[in-house]
Amino acid sequence: MRLSLDGFSVHNFREEAVEEALRKILSEEKDACVCPLCLDDMKAMVLNNVEPDYRPLWAEKVPESYKLGQLEALEKTLFNKIMAEAYKAMLRVKAKPRHEGERQPLRNDAAQILLLAAQEILPTKDQRWRQPNHLSALMAEALNNLKPEYSTTYKGRVYARASEIDAGFLAQVYAVVYNAIDKLEEDSGLKR
Ligand SMILES: [Zn+2]
Repeated sequence: MRLSLDGFSVHNFREEAVEEALRKILSEEKDACVCPLCLDDMKAMVLNNVEPDYRPLWAEKVPESYKLGQLEALEKTLFNKIMAEAYKAMLRVKAKPRHEGERQPLRNDAAQILLLAAQEILPTKDQRWRQPNHLSALMAEALNNLKPEYSTTYKGRVYARASEIDAGFLAQVYAVVYNAIDKLEEDSGLKR
């Protein structure tokens, strides 16, 4: 069974809050570069340090109405954490911008390794997990429980084969996928 990154659709809704935090910080910091590459670098740093909020994405893209006001709506501790991480990221990128060289769009490499684990696990599970909407729900749940690994470089961790991955980490990834399946089966009352 082949699963591909196109086979499901999820979005980390924390991205919008992080963008907003960076906009606020950068409006006070006139010396920092705000080119798209530096912005992506800052975003990756912040997103790797705050808990993600992945959800299945049913629409083609994130609704425009969602893009503003997300930051203020967060509870205080998380709001403060995101603002502090955004400030740290701005300082790091400002001190050492890397806006040259080949780059990739911002992405979370944790999705790749979860997909590898899912490819091994899902053939032993009910057929319906291969449907795009079920797979999207499963991946969102799993991504919320694995540390994000956002990257913008070609060098980012590339997970080609399960055999190339550290055994302890792979065991953790498998556990995350199994737990996600259990949780979703329980939630939908489909547990056998
Ligand atoms: Zn730049």
